[in-house]
Amino acid sequence: MSKSAKIIRSVKDLRKQIAKWRASEKSIALVPTMGALHDGHISLVKLAKKKADRVVVSIFVNPSQFAPTEDLSRYPRDETGDLNRLNAVETDLVWAPDVSEMYPDGFSTRVTPGTTSQNLEGEFRPHHFGGVATVCCKLFSQVTPDMAIFGEKDYQQLVVLRQMVCDLNLPLTLVGAPTRREKDGLALSSRNTYLSVQERDIAPSLYAAISDVADKVSEGADISASIAAAKQKLISNGFTKVDYLEVCDADTLVPIVTPTDRPLRVLVAAWLGKTRLIDNVAV
Ligand code: AMP
Repeated sequence: MSKSAKIIRSVKDLRKQIAKWRASEKSIALVPTMGALHDGHISLVKLAKKKADRVVVSIFVNPSQFAPTEDLSRYPRDETGDLNRLNAVETDLVWAPDVSEMYPDGFSTRVTPGTTSQNLEGEFRPHHFGGVATVCCKLFSQVTPDMAIFGEKDYQQLVVLRQMVCDLNLPLTLVGAPTRREKDGLALSSRNTYLSVQERDIAPSLYAAISDVADKVSEGADISASIAAAKQKLISNGFTKVDYLEVCDADTLVPIVTPTDRPLRVLVAAWLGKTRLIDNVAV
């Protein structure tokens, strides 16, 4: 039978549990999530279990990373389902604070992330990474993990948080984990549940498009032309809008248009009706 995870909802109780583990010299890994867990999230938990003695999964739909026009109110929530999934992989602790515990009355400090947060997602969701950096800074200070595991699915988030951890000398290591995909290539995402049957059929062409760009760029093709062709393909396949499709330096996220030996990443955000999907691949 699987072990039931302990659910904690107050910072005070969390600190008590963490102190007990620290007293017995246990290493701790944190996996931050917004719930609606799928196999991608569970792959992070499994990786965390390999790397640390104790695993904390946070479930918190963070209001401060959504703009008023975005999908906060319809973001999928299923705590019972999430707990079942986490119990099945023997998670030690689920940190699931209410909004009032995370942002009590009078809360007014915000982390302003650096240069890597400005383009790509930052251009289309200007408040997003400030909210992400602020909540992750709080999660790191609440849980005090040795490491935190993040998916490469949100590649820019990983880069922005690495910069924050470095710039603020936060005493933990960030670990990036590969993107889990459906058989047809679509990256697993809590937002995939928004897709209609018809949109779901179209969605895998997002991964196909960026994989095609990555292949062409690695073969020395013209970068701008490869990007333009991929954007065109997405629209002809039924995507309604492409927010961005860029080839960037994998570490700095500076867009690249001329060939280079540096590691590169192709990143995309595009709309299928009312649903915005993001994805990325290494070149
Ligand atoms: P979210 O709940 O969407 O905020 O995601 C929580 C964590 O899971 C983040 O580090 C994501 O990058 C990661 N994640 C989301 N989807 C996937 C996926 N398909 N494969 C691997 N990790 C993922």
